[in-house]
Amino acid sequence: MSSKFDAVIIGGGIIGLSIGYHLTRKGNTVLVIEKKYTGSGSTGRCIGGIRMQFSTEAAIRLMQESMSHFMKMEEDFDFSVEFLASGYLFLAHSEEKLKAFREVMKNQKELGLNVRELSPDECLELVPGMNSDGLKGGIYSPEDGQAYPFKVLRGYINGIRKGGSVVRIFTEVTGIKTSEGTVSGVELENGEFIEAPVVVNAAGPWGAEVGRMAGVELPIFPEEHEALISDRYDHLFDPMVVDYRPDGCYFQQMATGQIIGCYTPVPNKPGKQTSSSSEFLLEMSKRTSRLIPKLKDLNVIRHWGGSYSMTPDGSPIIDKTPVKGFFVAVGMSGHGFMFGPAIGKYLAQIITDGTYPFEWDEFKIDREFSRHEIMK
Ligand code: FAD
Repeated sequence: MSSKFDAVIIGGGIIGLSIGYHLTRKGNTVLVIEKKYTGSGSTGRCIGGIRMQFSTEAAIRLMQESMSHFMKMEEDFDFSVEFLASGYLFLAHSEEKLKAFREVMKNQKELGLNVRELSPDECLELVPGMNSDGLKGGIYSPEDGQAYPFKVLRGYINGIRKGGSVVRIFTEVTGIKTSEGTVSGVELENGEFIEAPVVVNAAGPWGAEVGRMAGVELPIFPEEHEALISDRYDHLFDPMVVDYRPDGCYFQQMATGQIIGCYTPVPNKPGKQTSSSSEFLLEMSKRTSRLIPKLKDLNVIRHWGGSYSMTPDGSPIIDKTPVKGFFVAVGMSGHGFMFGPAIGKYLAQIITDGTYPFEWDEFKIDREFSRHEIMK
């Protein structure tokens, strides 16, 4: 195998593979290196939700781009990634939350999102059998949706290989070589050196460690989450239901009938443990059946743990770094799967053309990190 590439990408999750795919399509020969198997990090542990309902212009524009990719993946990849425009419904159980949603909605509508406020009764029409005690209303977009992560990864891997680039699995990068502030390649655990003028850190929850290999400190930290999936059921409801209460949860029904979901632990749990707990299983069962009582008989077939890679302001870092040739796409929080397609396209543009696709301050490495995403 060649030991010289136009670019080396560290990490075989959605972010690294999407960047590899887009760089390959631009005519580069790329090596994506994954220490385990593709999707073994956060990507294979996510629940596949895709939405454009964010609060800032940059995040919405990023997601509009991503959504356009998800919608034509079947055509691009020549197989279905189980993309479904099943919608996202955010529930408000307080007037304050509803007011915050209304504020955000103004911006979303200006940017062309098909989003509207629903009364509690309209929420019930969308999710029959939902317990509407204390419900003040919701905001809903029918154009958000879902896809199956492993199929999306497979599409990118096929595209990378077809374009003459390489995905190498069970290979760990242990060092990044730089000299006089410029990257020259990566060192592997077996002592091999791969030469490349461009190296990308797409290492997800391991992004801080990989950044340090090049002498770049990144303000990112991993957080532990858990998820579960049920047996298949006949169709119950369409949208991802997001119960925004501090003891809420979010879940959706997959194209293939399973209910898949999780909740955000309060307080957050730092770390990258991927084991699953009986505490989560019990708590998640309580939360889902409080919201939709008939789900109390749900047959859970599996639950698991995974991590989010967090930044202090909840937005990712997608940028060049002070080390010439070293780029980062890390800190995806709970949104890396949905951001992946656009990040791949746009980071490929930043790398090859040196230009940002639009006002990029929200994603730059040297920002203040003081903002706060309302639609977390
Ligand atoms: P990863 O998928 O973690 O990929 C990074 C890869 O880098 C890993 O495979 C790792 O093995 C590899 N690596 C690290 N260090 C090295 C090294 N030194 N050498 C070689 N390889 C290395 N997002 C959504 O958009 N929608 C959702 O509905 C959603 N639900 C989620 C539910 C749960 C329970 C969890 C845990 C996450 C969820 N997310 C969701 C978040 C999403 O999964 C992540 O943001 C996304 O997968 C991040 O992708 P990534 O490629 O950055 O990281």
